[in-house]
Amino acid sequence: MKETVFTGIRFVYFDLDDTLLDHKSAQMKALDATLAEFDIFEHISSEEFKKAYHNRNKELWHLYNHGKIDKDELRYRRFADTLDELGLDNGLFDKVESRYMHHYEHSWDWVPGADAVYDRIRENYASGIVTNGFANIQYKKIDKFDLVKNGEKTVISEEVGYLKPHPKIFEHAIELAGVQPNQVLYVGDSFNSDIEGGKRAGLQTAWYNPGNTNQKPDEADLVFDDFSVLANQLFP
Ligand SMILES: [Mg+2]
Repeated sequence: MKETVFTGIRFVYFDLDDTLLDHKSAQMKALDATLAEFDIFEHISSEEFKKAYHNRNKELWHLYNHGKIDKDELRYRRFADTLDELGLDNGLFDKVESRYMHHYEHSWDWVPGADAVYDRIRENYASGIVTNGFANIQYKKIDKFDLVKNGEKTVISEEVGYLKPHPKIFEHAIELAGVQPNQVLYVGDSFNSDIEGGKRAGLQTAWYNPGNTNQKPDEADLVFDDFSVLANQLFP
């Protein structure tokens, strides 16, 4: 048997957005499709729209993460504030948000190569998902891609009341897994939420880092940009 970077893994947890499912490209496609549908965007370019949305969305998530605004405020303000920033009449923000969500849900797809490896891992290990996000949306993704069909565990920040990287969400996940922290492998794409958070909670970590960003490779037990690399470590 070849050596692997992991030891004694009994449970594998995955992050959902941009680890298993390609949230970023679904978001880009949805923003473009939404832009094309409303006359108010006639003189706004795709780049301007995306930049304004990302700025506002990032700021609002920061406020949400710190308990300063609730979910509903985040949801309506991300488009109301975007329209304001672009100097447009924000009266249509709820229609824009609802078309955006429609397009977003129809643009979901797997991260390339993740589906086959996810299936192979869940056939051979107890497994589950730990995700930051809104429960109703994350459950729709889970249903659409049949991510929980063999008793896989699901941990969603909105239900637990803590967002990654908070230790409490990982503690909850570990308890649900019924194993020791160091017997859990956590696979995720966010250095801060997944790798630093997972490591602080005592988990082994695999960092999906296809963009080679933020290089601090020593923090994770494995850094990979192709799911076959993860598979080779778990099935040596
Ligand atoms: Mg992610």
